[in-house]
Amino acid sequence: MADESSPLEQEIRRLIAVAGPMPVAEYMRLCLTHPQYGYYLRRDAIGAAGDFITAPEISQMFGELVGLWAAAVWQQMGAPENIRLIELGPGRGTMMRDALRAAKIVKGFQPAVVLHLVELNPKLKEAQRQMLDGLEVPVMWHAALADVPAGPSIILANEFIDALPIHQAVKRANGWHERVIEISPQGDLAIGVATDPLPHFNATLPRELRQAAEHSVFEWRPDTIAMEIGRRARDEGAALIIDYGHTARGLGETLQAVAGHSFANPLRTPGGIDLTAHVDFMALAQSAEMMGARAHGPVTQGDFLRRLGIEKRAATLKANAAPAKAAEIDHALTRLTGTSPGTMGELFKALAVADPKLDTLPGFEA
Ligand code: SAH
Repeated sequence: MADESSPLEQEIRRLIAVAGPMPVAEYMRLCLTHPQYGYYLRRDAIGAAGDFITAPEISQMFGELVGLWAAAVWQQMGAPENIRLIELGPGRGTMMRDALRAAKIVKGFQPAVVLHLVELNPKLKEAQRQMLDGLEVPVMWHAALADVPAGPSIILANEFIDALPIHQAVKRANGWHERVIEISPQGDLAIGVATDPLPHFNATLPRELRQAAEHSVFEWRPDTIAMEIGRRARDEGAALIIDYGHTARGLGETLQAVAGHSFANPLRTPGGIDLTAHVDFMALAQSAEMMGARAHGPVTQGDFLRRLGIEKRAATLKANAAPAKAAEIDHALTRLTGTSPGTMGELFKALAVADPKLDTLPGFEA
């Protein structure tokens, strides 16, 4: 017997019964952002007690360096009197709190800032409100980047893009077929493929992937958000995107489910588990450049943070810390910048897209 305990699973089964199998992207969208049952609308999933832990939750150093990056970029922009500091998916607000605290040393930056937080989750909005309380910066919330008023902006996004839905296609003898979620003969949610091939799909692929072998899988995200970021960054703006993913375009599937800090089956308990997939940084950069912005990087998170001075910052913090605390700082430094399995230094990348009038941005020096 199939487990139909999750209300979202019942809704998904109903949709499939009415309209037929749904693309993986639609399944992912429902699982994450369904207005009632979506994972990101119901839960505070981040942190040691949640499902996953992110860089700003590992150490204050991450947010501090991002804050100094933003302030330096603001200076490079000519220190505009008003700057929209936009964060996409701020989680618990930890990165922004650390960022603003650190950036106070840059004269004039904080008074110029109006914060615009793009967030869907009402619980996280409340967490952000509390976290940023007392920082003396005006804060506004929005459901989407498109709702943030135009004007000079700096956009920050850590582990946001990986939560946006991906499509998957599988190569067959007669072309590429989109992967869909269907009901198996046993009555379970299962992965299938659409009957008809995607028209002209091969021609849209990067050249080096057009000869892919049968059964190969290709993943892609709609480029709406990358184009929106690029359009904003192009005119007196800059964006910093940090996430896990790849810099060369490739084949293979990366959709993964995480619950309670371990991997889970993406088709089990829809709405109750986190679904993410690797970010294709090349695709992001290209879409932003198509809108007239200039891409910087991607570089690995380890290189980015080292160039911004994380090692020096760790040494300073350690100088005033008790031995246990100092060991924690070392551990965090390794986790954020290391290259061994389980660390983020190489798996995670940083990409900036900016107004082409801006020169090399901090952290992206050759
Ligand atoms: N940046 C934070 C949180 C990462 S988790 C950190 O590093 O800790 C992803 C964040 O994006 C959450 O705040 C989630 O609620 C938000 N989010 C996910 N999908 C979204 C969407 N489509 N629109 C707006 N916010 C979204």
